[in-house]
Amino acid sequence: MTSEAPLIEVSDLTVSYPVRRGVLSRAVERLKAVDGVTFSVRRGETLGLVGESGCGKSTLGRAVLRLVEPDRGSIRFDGRELVGLAAGAMRALRRRMQLIFQDPYGSLDPRMTVAEIVGEPLAVHGLGRRSERNRRVEALLAQMGIERDALRRYPHEFSGGQRQRIGIARALAVRPDFVVADEPLSALDVSIQAQIVNLLADLQRGLGLTFLFIAHDLRVIEHVSTEVAVMYLGRIVERAPTATLFSRPHHPYTQALLASAPATDPRHRRVRAPLGGEPPSALDPPPGCPFHPRCPQAFDRCRLERPALASVGAQHLSACFLAPPGTA
Ligand code: SF4
Repeated sequence: MTSEAPLIEVSDLTVSYPVRRGVLSRAVERLKAVDGVTFSVRRGETLGLVGESGCGKSTLGRAVLRLVEPDRGSIRFDGRELVGLAAGAMRALRRRMQLIFQDPYGSLDPRMTVAEIVGEPLAVHGLGRRSERNRRVEALLAQMGIERDALRRYPHEFSGGQRQRIGIARALAVRPDFVVADEPLSALDVSIQAQIVNLLADLQRGLGLTFLFIAHDLRVIEHVSTEVAVMYLGRIVERAPTATLFSRPHHPYTQALLASAPATDPRHRRVRAPLGGEPPSALDPPPGCPFHPRCPQAFDRCRLERPALASVGAQHLSACFLAPPGTA
C-alpha cells in the first residue's frame, strides 16, 4: 500500500570532487559527479536509477544518505531538511536510511561473525538489550533464508548470494524506512540475482520500504521500479513511470540503452540503434546537449543549447529538444 506523500525529496543536488594534478597534488579543477538533480520517491515505492558506469548514480545514492557532502541543493527526508543538519541529528536519522552495497565480498568485515555483522548496527544505535538484539538477528537471518548455524561463521564461508543476504539483513536490522540499494546484484550470478530481487520485493511489501534502486541492468530496473530515472553525465535526462519509460522512451539516450539491452518482453523488442561511442569526460563536457556527440538524432540546436528536463507527457520528463510523441 503506498501513500502519495514523498518520503524523499531531492532538489537541485550537486556534488563535485576536486581533481588534483602536479607534483604538489594541487586541486586544480572540480569534477561535477552530480549536477543539479531533482526527484522524489513516494513511500513504499521504488525509484530505479539507471545509466552507464561513471554517470554519477552511485555518488547520487550516497549523497542522498549524506555519506557524501553535496555542494548545494536540498534533500528532504520525511519532511526534514538533511543538508546542513548537525552531525548528532543526522546520526539519529541515519537509522531510518540505510545502504545495501554492491559488493557482497568487500562490504562485510572478514574478522566478524555473521551475528556480529548483522547485530552491529543495533548496538551502534543502542537498540534493545543484548538478548533482544540476538533474537532480532536470528529472526532476520531466518527471514533471509540463512540457517541458524550461520551465526558463528565468517563471511568467507558463504557464497556470494548468501553474503548479499547477510548484507541485506545488516541494512534492515535497524528497521529503516528508506534504503539505497547500490547495484546490489551486479556481483552475483544471474540465477542468484532473481532470488535477491524477489527477496527485496517481498521485504518491500512486508515492511513498506521505500527504495532508491541503482543498477545498470535495465531488466532488473524494469522488474523492481515504480518509476525510473535515467542519468547521463551527472544529470537526470529522462524520468517516467516504469511502464511509460519502457514502452515509450523519449530521450535518444534511453532509447539507445533499451536497444542495447536484451528485451524480456517481445512486445518491447527494439528497432532502434544501440548505444555507440563512449560518454565524454565530466571534466570537459561538450557544449549544448551533453549527449549530442553520440546522438543519432542530433541537429544544429543540440550543439549550442542544453535542453532542460521538461514535460513530454503525463508524469514523463525528458531533457531533449525532440517533440513529444504524437505532437510532431
Ligand atoms: Fe539528441 Fe538533440 Fe535530444 Fe540531445 S537534444 S538527445 S542531441 S536530439
